[in-house]
Amino acid sequence: MNTQKYTRRSIFRLSLASAVTAFFSDRLMAQSAAPAPAGPSGPYKLPPLPYPYEALEPTIDAETMRLHHDKHHQAYITNANKLLADHPELSKLSPEELLLQLDKAPEAIRKGLRDNVGGHVNHTLFWLMMSPKGGGEPAGPLAAAIEKTFGSFAEFQKQFNEAALKRFGSGWAWLVLKDGKLAILSTPNQDPPLLEGQKALLGLDVWEHAYYLKYQNRRPEYVTAWWKVVNWPFVEELYAKATGG
Ligand code: MN
Repeated sequence: MNTQKYTRRSIFRLSLASAVTAFFSDRLMAQSAAPAPAGPSGPYKLPPLPYPYEALEPTIDAETMRLHHDKHHQAYITNANKLLADHPELSKLSPEELLLQLDKAPEAIRKGLRDNVGGHVNHTLFWLMMSPKGGGEPAGPLAAAIEKTFGSFAEFQKQFNEAALKRFGSGWAWLVLKDGKLAILSTPNQDPPLLEGQKALLGLDVWEHAYYLKYQNRRPEYVTAWWKVVNWPFVEELYAKATGG
């Protein structure tokens, strides 16, 4: 048996096989390295997170913040931009204006706009409603209004938590200004309070993507812990603006 010949042939076969593999893997690499078809870059852009991903730990972990901001919020924006690509008139409106004039959009894209522009508006506020220096209780006119409306801050928190826990499936709990008065409510999906003519003052995202990595099914634990990162000075500012103060 001619071992040497056999070996040479094997080597030849092997190198042929490697060449074929290399050829195809190059093509695969070229395909995967090519950028995904870029969606329209506007009209909306992802606002930067106002603090580092890990800033809200241990209440909200860095990985949740990274995914929530970079992937989920970005997806609402990407989807909204795609829906608006052929609608320059609608693209000129601010996201809030657009949500209030959804009847101007073709019916086929109305629900998509409501969900995705709503998601953009809600999350833009949500990042600002939290802070690494958050927690405690509000001060000033907002504190007085909470006490007047709910009896005490503790009672307000209790009712807000109930709204967050009773929301079935995905949605938000809110403190809003409604007809000049404070009210607690919850909305499904990404519906922002402004759809009902209410002004959002404080919102809690109770979609599973907001807490599942750290809290899994323990939504009550997430809701309770979240108060430690509430950015009351920002909420007070929103209240002042909403009441013309
Ligand atoms: Mn979310």
